[in-house]
Amino acid sequence: MPAEIKLFACLKDNYGVLIHDPASGATAAIDAPEAAPVEAALKATGWKLTDILVTHHHADHTGGIAELKKKYNCRVVAPKAEAGKIPLVDETVSEGDTVSVGKLAANVIETPGHTSGHITFWFHGDKLAFAGDTLFSIGCGRVIEGNAEMMWQSLLKLRALPDDTRIFCGHEYTAANIRFAKTIEPNNVFLAERAKEVAELVAAKKPTIPSYMGEEKAANPFLRADVPELANALGFAGWPAWQVFAEIRERKNRF
Ligand SMILES: [Zn+2]
Repeated sequence: MPAEIKLFACLKDNYGVLIHDPASGATAAIDAPEAAPVEAALKATGWKLTDILVTHHHADHTGGIAELKKKYNCRVVAPKAEAGKIPLVDETVSEGDTVSVGKLAANVIETPGHTSGHITFWFHGDKLAFAGDTLFSIGCGRVIEGNAEMMWQSLLKLRALPDDTRIFCGHEYTAANIRFAKTIEPNNVFLAERAKEVAELVAAKKPTIPSYMGEEKAANPFLRADVPELANALGFAGWPAWQVFAEIRERKNRF
């Protein structure tokens, strides 16, 4: 049976997500920015929280864990490299591990750069990926603990996922990301299409995620640092892709 998803807003601009296995009744929260919206989503769906899958240690992704764990005694699964910075971890995972949520299965992909131990949960059977703060729609996370080359390698791993993979990320940043992306690739028709779609979603007060990996590959400048036309247009012809990526990331930081 296919996974069911509940997406909801948390904190200022974070997203919380529940993924539910109708066959077993298992339900996982992907990160736990704060407890109350997670509980409201559980109440709205009638689902019972069995797991919290943590992408990285930042407080706006882990702040609700203690309260939810106390209430639901759910299993907390976290990246091995950051387990010491995340409360009440039951199970640690790293590259290549599989995490089960009932009968649903996620592959763990290590995607360091935003933090040094950041992971992505890829539910291959359901064509869903939870990329935390590594990949945003038309953007990517700030490179805080890692370096640009590391982040570029992480984005390449995500870019290798099938085009029909639905990408969930940790924040609603899409409209701002599009404003920046237009400065990098003003003539990208796929970006223009996405901009139109996002403007309509924002006007209707709807989330702009998930997006499809195929759309991100076509329109997200951070996944396109190795496209020769992009590098040439920016005056970076012949640069290694990770350096082009680093320059685009630097420009976004100043944008
Ligand atoms: Zn973060």
